[in-house]
Amino acid sequence: MLDFRCLADRCEDTCCVGLRVPVSEGQLWQLQAGVKGSPDEERVESLLLPNPEGPPAERAYIRMGSDGSCPFLDTERLCSLHRRHGEKVLPDPCVTFPRIVWKWIEHVEVAGSLACPEMARLLLLEEGALEQVPGPLEQVPRLEAARALPGEPGDAYVVHAELVRAAALRLLHRREFPLASRLMFLGQLAFRLDSVFRSPEPFAGNEAEVEQVVQALLQPFDAPEALEAMHQEFLALEVPGGPCAGLVASMLKSRAVHARGERFGPFVRRVLGSLWGSEQAEGDPQGAWREYAARWERLMATQGARVEQYFLNYGITQWLRAPFTELPSLLAYVFRLVLRVATLRLALAGHPAVAALCAAEQGEAAEEPQAVLDRAAIECFYLVSRHVEQAPDVLALVRQLTGAGGAETLGKALVFSKFC
Ligand code: SF4
Repeated sequence: MLDFRCLADRCEDTCCVGLRVPVSEGQLWQLQAGVKGSPDEERVESLLLPNPEGPPAERAYIRMGSDGSCPFLDTERLCSLHRRHGEKVLPDPCVTFPRIVWKWIEHVEVAGSLACPEMARLLLLEEGALEQVPGPLEQVPRLEAARALPGEPGDAYVVHAELVRAAALRLLHRREFPLASRLMFLGQLAFRLDSVFRSPEPFAGNEAEVEQVVQALLQPFDAPEALEAMHQEFLALEVPGGPCAGLVASMLKSRAVHARGERFGPFVRRVLGSLWGSEQAEGDPQGAWREYAARWERLMATQGARVEQYFLNYGITQWLRAPFTELPSLLAYVFRLVLRVATLRLALAGHPAVAALCAAEQGEAAEEPQAVLDRAAIECFYLVSRHVEQAPDVLALVRQLTGAGGAETLGKALVFSKFC
């Protein structure tokens, strides 16, 4: 994370497209003072959208151009404000992106956003890329703007956030089970913890008692026999994947209409066109689902270890880049993760390069299949991370789908896990 280098004009995209750039109260002042008296002063004033009612971290936004890119980019796609005035005038996200800095209770963590294609390559294509290692605090970008761990101080999840996250990461690493089962384990874990700590009468005890209860609830998820039993039960569950495919496709189609930039719309049309047989992706989703399932079978038979690595690293990235305490319940967090994985699975299976790989006979491909797959995967992961995952309309839809929590949400999480 600390060694990351932006590709700048060599990047296939630019981070300003499709993202919102908030300017914090402190940075707004720094920016205005930094350009004062220079030819940029007037431009900065006219290109800032004030947000006086917003939180201090979002007192203004940069007014993006009609193509979604930042108006301060120069002809070489480099930041003109950075070039003329230095890093100090830039809003926090421009300095930290694609890193995200979190202040945990006793330490600081720097995680990565897959919305940057270069970061996606670094995090997804390397086997041990997500191993957490200590680093020098003085190299953390904009340490003073690090986000605090969300949630109420004293809440069981906030106090034991590391314990719960470590259990979730251990489950993700259980590669002897398919990804679908590991997502189901996470759903079950969340359901059991929420039943105690997010019920109408949550368990209340002192810190040691709460820890004891958390440890007791986590314990079966470290027991191989208990996991195997849950896995076998899950295997017996039969769920048609058509409705899941239909829902993911309509979410992608809606984003394709609203997303800025030139890349995402054509990408969605190619992906859906390849699975549905037409870019509109209309009609019975069962056929698309059957095609999706057949491609996955073929992909796992030929490139299983590589695909497994993308999704393992993706899952870990999610737990590191967004603390689970940012959502009202652990199950809501897991459900959102499952939906994201389902979206990426559909996007990857629908990618035309993956379709061609699946259709090719052994030894027929002109290029090394893993290189083709890596390129397709990076395109899927970074475009979906950038244009779908944080989009306000998608977040609202996911909240609505999540429902009230408990058994209802667990049921939905299991249905989408099965799709994965
Ligand atoms: S997306 Fe990543 S590599 Fe590309 S310009 Fe932005 S930070 Fe640099």
